[in-house]
Amino acid sequence: MADAVPTRRRRPAIARTRGELAEALSNQRGTRALVMTMGALHEGHLSLVRRARELADQVVVSVFVNPTQFAPDEDYDAYPRTFDADLGALAPLGAEVVFAPDASEVYPVPASFTLDPGPIARVLEGAMRPSHLAGVALVVTKFLHLVHPDVALFGQKDAQQLAMVRLLVRDLDLPVRIEGVPIARDTDGLALSSRNQYLSGPDRVHARALSRALREGARRAGQAAPASVVAAAARAVLEAEPNVDIDYVALADAETFEVRGLAAATTNAIADDAASGRPTYLLLAARVGPTRLIDNVILTPGPASGGRA
Ligand code: AMP
Repeated sequence: MADAVPTRRRRPAIARTRGELAEALSNQRGTRALVMTMGALHEGHLSLVRRARELADQVVVSVFVNPTQFAPDEDYDAYPRTFDADLGALAPLGAEVVFAPDASEVYPVPASFTLDPGPIARVLEGAMRPSHLAGVALVVTKFLHLVHPDVALFGQKDAQQLAMVRLLVRDLDLPVRIEGVPIARDTDGLALSSRNQYLSGPDRVHARALSRALREGARRAGQAAPASVVAAAARAVLEAEPNVDIDYVALADAETFEVRGLAAATTNAIADDAASGRPTYLLLAARVGPTRLIDNVILTPGPASGGRA
């Protein structure tokens, strides 16, 4: 009877160790996709898995709360761990392998070697969380080596992480294609995040201001407003919302994450960037009550400014 069950609906093999992972991968044929997660899976993660399913014959999902990307004062211990529910969410999508190692399996001895992603790790998220992107680079490199996928998928929700991973793969000649997946949002606009479950009822309502701020910024960009006006419009929405403390509102090059200077910008640099094929992100990070949230949008400049050239 087991043969009557389509392969894609079978429960995934669960690998807890490198050895179990190697064993599970040794049976695979065809192309392979990897989706790396920290678990507490939601529809955003699942959209990556669905896209992976479209792109490759075999799908590996990792569930690993990576200690090296958390600072000592961050929420590593409190981070939600919901492995059984994660397996239930993955079941209908038919991932072949779930790699869910312990930290001691991934880091049997404290890593002596570190990776420095360069300038991208020193702005915005990198400035707020100084060792974060280096920790991500380390675990991504390790998992790419352990799983050796043809394609690895990352969400645009963590736009700076996605850009950093593209640079990592480019600079270190890693043989993998990186695929970005659009942000999945709740019906009220809030970008889905495992950390949303920290939001209390009222904070969950205040948190809507983030996507509202992005929409307002994008609207101004669509009217050919200069970068400074776009950022100010987004900031004003956040400032008007109670219980929202801004970490940053910024515009950055989607590839390098070079942050755009906003002072006295009179020309429409967003349109210039878009015309030269280099999109601009509007990015923001804010604390809503005790919960830190990030969100972003790719700006599409308005026709008036696009016509300047
Ligand atoms: P995390 O478990 O938060 O480390 O996220 C694992 C992957 O899922 C990362 O590539 C994230 O960018 C991606 N992701 C998380 N939330 C979303 C979302 N709302 N939409 C799209 N991708 C997401």
